[in-house]
Amino acid sequence: MIYRSPFRNKSRQTTAFKKQGSWKLGYHTGVDRVCDTDCTLVAIADGIVTRTSGCGKSYGNHIVYRTDDGKCVLYAHLKSKAELPVGAKIKAGQKLGTMGSTGNSSGAHLHVEIQDCETWGYGKNLLDPNEFINWNDFTQESDFTAKTWKNGSTSEKVYQTVADCKAKKNSIGLLLPGETAQCTALIDGCYLLTYSAAGTTKCGFAAYSGGV
Ligand SMILES: [Zn+2]
Repeated sequence: MIYRSPFRNKSRQTTAFKKQGSWKLGYHTGVDRVCDTDCTLVAIADGIVTRTSGCGKSYGNHIVYRTDDGKCVLYAHLKSKAELPVGAKIKAGQKLGTMGSTGNSSGAHLHVEIQDCETWGYGKNLLDPNEFINWNDFTQESDFTAKTWKNGSTSEKVYQTVADCKAKKNSIGLLLPGETAQCTALIDGCYLLTYSAAGTTKCGFAAYSGGV
C-alpha cells in the first residue's frame, strides 16, 4: 500500500534514508523532510497510536502508530508532546502534531521512520519511507464514512476513472435527480459510487459531495 504524505502541503527531503554518518547505527534510520508552508503533521494511514514520548535525547517529542496493514510509523522532533494517548485510533489525514526541532535536531524538520513490525523497536525491520509514501498525496479522507447518497435536483455526471472525474471529461453516465447511490470511498476528491440504472448495477466516480 502507498500512503499519503504526512504533510498537508509540499515538502522536500533534507536527509536520505540509510545515509552514512554519525548516527548510533552508523546510518540514518529514516528520511528527513521539511515543509514549505503548512507544517501540520497528519497520519499517512489509518491505524492506532502505540507510543508517545516527551522530549527524549534523540527523537525529542515523538509519536509512533501502527497502520492497519502492519507498519509502525515514527514521527520525531515534534514541536510539542503528542496530545493523542496510546491506544487512540487514528484516520489517514488526521492531525498528529506539528513539525519541530526537539531532541537531536539542528533545525525544524520531520524525521519519519517506517518499520515492518508488531511493535516499534530502534533500528528494527526498517523500510525505506520513500517506497511507501507518496509525498505529493494530500488526500483528506479522515472525515469520510461509507453511506447512501441521494442525488439532489440536478443530474450528476459519473466518470469511469478518478482522472476523468477530476478533469470532468468522458462521463459514462448520469445519476438522475432523486436517485440514490452507495458512496463507498473518497479518492483524491472524487466519490466512488455504485448505483442501479435500468435494472443493472453500475459504478463510477462523481465529484459532487453535497448529497453525501
Ligand atoms: Zn532524521
